Amino acid sequence: MPPTTIVHVALHAPSHSGVGDLLSYASPEALPPGTLVRVPFGTREVLGVVWDSDEATGELPEGATMRAIAGVLAGVAPLDAPWRRLVGFAARYYQRSLGEVALAALPPQLRDLGPEQLARRLRRPAAPVGDTSQDLPTVALTPEQESARALIAAEKGPFVLFGSTGSGKTEVYLRCVQEVLDADPSAQALVMVPEINLTPQLEERFTARFAPRFGAQAVVSLHSGMTNPQRLKSWLAAHSGTARIVLGTRMAVFASLPGLRLIIVDEEHDPSYKQQEGARYSARDLAIWRGREQGAKVLLGSATPSLESWHASRPPTPEDPEGGRYLRLHMPSRIGAGQLPRVRRVDMNQQPRRAVFTAPLLAAITERVQRGEQSMILLNRRGYAPVLHCADCGWKSDCPHCSAHQVFHKTDRTLRCHHCGYTVRVPRHCPTCGSPDILSMGRGTEQLEEQLGGLLSEVLRPDGSPARIARIDADTTKAKGALESQLAQVHSGEVDVLVGTQMIAKGHDFRRITLVAAVQPDGALFSSDFRAAERLFALLMQAGGRAGRDAAYMAAQGGAPCEMWVQSFHPQHAVFEALRTHDYPAFAAQQLQERQEAGMPPFAYQALVRADARTQEVAQGFLTAASAAAREHGLPGLDHVTLYPPVPLTIQRIANVERAQMLLESPSRAALQRFLATWQPVMQATRSDPAHKGLIRWLVDVDPLAI
Ligand code: ADP
Ligand code: ZN
Ligand code: ZN
Repeated sequence: MPPTTIVHVALHAPSHSGVGDLLSYASPEALPPGTLVRVPFGTREVLGVVWDSDEATGELPEGATMRAIAGVLAGVAPLDAPWRRLVGFAARYYQRSLGEVALAALPPQLRDLGPEQLARRLRRPAAPVGDTSQDLPTVALTPEQESARALIAAEKGPFVLFGSTGSGKTEVYLRCVQEVLDADPSAQALVMVPEINLTPQLEERFTARFAPRFGAQAVVSLHSGMTNPQRLKSWLAAHSGTARIVLGTRMAVFASLPGLRLIIVDEEHDPSYKQQEGARYSARDLAIWRGREQGAKVLLGSATPSLESWHASRPPTPEDPEGGRYLRLHMPSRIGAGQLPRVRRVDMNQQPRRAVFTAPLLAAITERVQRGEQSMILLNRRGYAPVLHCADCGWKSDCPHCSAHQVFHKTDRTLRCHHCGYTVRVPRHCPTCGSPDILSMGRGTEQLEEQLGGLLSEVLRPDGSPARIARIDADTTKAKGALESQLAQVHSGEVDVLVGTQMIAKGHDFRRITLVAAVQPDGALFSSDFRAAERLFALLMQAGGRAGRDAAYMAAQGGAPCEMWVQSFHPQHAVFEALRTHDYPAFAAQQLQERQEAGMPPFAYQALVRADARTQEVAQGFLTAASAAAREHGLPGLDHVTLYPPVPLTIQRIANVERAQMLLESPSRAALQRFLATWQPVMQATRSDPAHKGLIRWLVDVDPLAI
């Protein structure tokens, strides 16, 4: 019998199976760590990653029963040590099992393909390679871009590229990528964007720039909008080194990139870098960690950096001679001496009640249409109206399964719950009292589109044709390719007024928009979430940044300034004041001071523990018991961690599940981590107490974004 090696394999075991981080299997041959294997698990065969192995021991000890691995995925090189360290760190830090994080980081198809199918994929002929002698199209950098580029080349980083919207950050990314790839034929770069819908535009720009020199296969994308075969193909290209540039959303931070030398996180402040299920990782934070570990430079770009990154990149001062750990680079000017929009605030207290488009805003939009320019109207709420109600008895369109209203969608005459998906036809009569007098309250993007259609029906474009209005939100873009074609229409000038949710506010390089309006941004001002103001400010700056991006076009239109309109009942609010002066640093300074005084991030570290149960009582009861158990055990770190009492979530019930959460806070990240690590087993034990029957699950969110 051949000598047997014992290998320890990471695989995705369901959490209730009680399986620890690694499972041991017998292997007839030694397998290096990182090898992909198929192993029996229960009655199935699953994909696993060899994490480490024991020395060859000859035969198994007497009486030992150990299952043998079923096979090795030959042809795929073992995952390297930096990748395994990244996965190990993410699992520890975000309190998940190693196997769960490792397997979630691999393309789904690797799990399903048999050895032969995989071998066929690997045999696919490579696309023709590029020609390294090819000159790349060069764009002369502006002085601001050039000084950013030079600092990035010279310093270690990490860098925060603080550049206005339209300051040419993408051009700096392109240049940095080029330098890194030119310097070393095995070097790879990872470029992340927050939204899938931004990847096609970016891919186009990167491919146009680099395909001539590095070949068409050198640029690949990785995001959840791709089919599984596409994802596998990109992943293998990155893993084998054929792909030199990987563009992707947050999941791409886990791509296997043996030659990684540069990581770019565009719009680094964007909340979508935080995963909201499973391991709730922050791709931005992992990028920083990965870069340091793997010796890759990290560049975070934004016009409105997160307060975390802004604080971490503070320059040294006499009182604070060290400054932050990151290096901040400034690009305040727009390309081609373009101007940032002039901000116009409309005080809604002075306007007729229920006005959606106030007279001055409507006049400004009308003028734009008549001049053949484009306008963009932002409202962060889709559907026609957020709720229907009965004028006679007060009935409201509440979702029966959630503590939320069902949203009225007029296009298909449905009431839809945006939380659980429960959908019904709009009733003709009040379901409670039978009255036909059912009214809508509030408004969403569908209604804006409809109202604008009426208000602009007489307004003509320069060629005498009527104004064209389009809407882009999650409802209009469900079909594959719909968003691309709608965006293409905007870019080609087939739309005069674009109505939409935050989807349209981010990243797009629109060339002919000269007016952006936020018609109802007040909702976020008084949110209980301490990050609401920061997020609103970033969104409005981003949205405003879609206007006046082409200085030459603006000049040709007669040189009138582009505008950002805000309709608000609180026009003097600090958020709108800072918006008016485009003064992110002042806004950040004010917010950071508040956070420091209140002991909140980035001056403290947080984690949320959430419990889901059949009743609110059980959910909160579990959390209370878990924190009592922590105190009883005197867990390490506890003296530096504050455990707040459990509370129901803002939307406390979704799909008939009651949700409660508990906030943990500490001035020390290490103390919080130490505490969480030892608390996990205590929570497991707490759960098995019959008192908590009815508990469905609990989960930990480290560095939560929404409180
Ligand atoms: P940001 O990402 O900072 O919002 P972009 O990188 O999209 O800005 O640049 C805005 C526009 O300016 C783009 O159309 C880009 O092609 C153009 N641009 C960028 N850098 C230069 C440059 N140095 N010279 C001329 N045009 C540039
Ligand atoms: Zn009624
Ligand atoms: Zn619901």
